[in-house]
Amino acid sequence: MSKMSASQPVTQGSGDRIVSAETILISIPFREGAQPVWSFGGTPKNTFDTLLVRIETEAGIIGWGEAFSRGEDATLAALISSRVLPLVVGRDASQISKIKHEIEFQLQNFGRNGSLNYGVSAVDIALWDIAAKRAGVPLVKLLGGSFRSEVDVYASLLRYGTADGVVAACEDAIARGYRAIKLHEIEVDLIEIAAEACAGRARVMADVNCPWSPAVAIRHNQSLQTSSLHWLEEPVWPPEDYIGLARVRAASSTPIAAGENAGGLSEFVAMVQANAIDIAQPDIAKSGGVTELRRIVAFCEANAIRFEPHCALFGPGQIATVHLAASIQSAPMLERLFCDFEAELYDGATIPKNGVVSVPSSPGLGIDPNPDVIARYRVR
Ligand SMILES: [Mg+2]
Repeated sequence: MSKMSASQPVTQGSGDRIVSAETILISIPFREGAQPVWSFGGTPKNTFDTLLVRIETEAGIIGWGEAFSRGEDATLAALISSRVLPLVVGRDASQISKIKHEIEFQLQNFGRNGSLNYGVSAVDIALWDIAAKRAGVPLVKLLGGSFRSEVDVYASLLRYGTADGVVAACEDAIARGYRAIKLHEIEVDLIEIAAEACAGRARVMADVNCPWSPAVAIRHNQSLQTSSLHWLEEPVWPPEDYIGLARVRAASSTPIAAGENAGGLSEFVAMVQANAIDIAQPDIAKSGGVTELRRIVAFCEANAIRFEPHCALFGPGQIATVHLAASIQSAPMLERLFCDFEAELYDGATIPKNGVVSVPSSPGLGIDPNPDVIARYRVR
């Protein structure tokens, strides 16, 4: 009987041995429009990061993954490069679940949520890309096949801070064919004005990004009852206050959505046990990749929780989310932040048209990033 160990080399000649794994951080400017400029803890800038992880096997198959990143975050890229990726090189790329488990286990003392988990997520996405490329099929086929060839997309607006600004953005989104719009305003009157402006033309969700205590959230949510929101997202600070979130949920009929700040399945179990959510929103580039999101999907199906993945991503994470959404019977929407970039990593192939995106049909994720765009926007 052969003895298995984490470091056991792959059978010679299989071609599945991972020979390189690297991070590639790019940051692309988008057209100004939101006021004030978008800020994520650093200098406010109108750019969004895409933190790529590129994994290559001995057979020459290249897989692309994405870690959540904001603000030209070279520190995050360095952390993933120095702590996560060395645990991947030399491994058998076909052992997706085992690699994910072992990285998580070995790095557990760095925390079970946050930066390193973003790296684990990126590795997982890249390994699924490799697996599907090796099989010669689009990722959705490895996930059980497609329920649909197109996925509905909602326009996830930036924050504008004025009635004129948010209403103009809503009109722009509707004109581009979106039938669902998510606001990021935090002033109740601006949410009400935007919802009124969209009435009868687009469903409206409000994402306030965790600003309120449970008591304040209950008051604001009751004011918003007349706006008939499709959901209210993350009303409570801190995001892990599931008891407070449950109180907000119990005080109104508006569906409560949350989960983009969760680390994985266990946190969704805790949310549901606390009666905190109607809608689960894990992010494929934060919460553990394709592998973890499939577990969360199954958990949601077993507990009558809607699954609507978070996706403020523009790279492999967005494409992997499309494949996953296409593989699920309940038809979750794709979230796409509503901004126009100076350059497109996929030459525009991932931009929604009339509120939908096509599920790529080529092997793997189905589209690889444009190397010229990478070269031009790489953060040095
Ligand atoms: Mg959100």
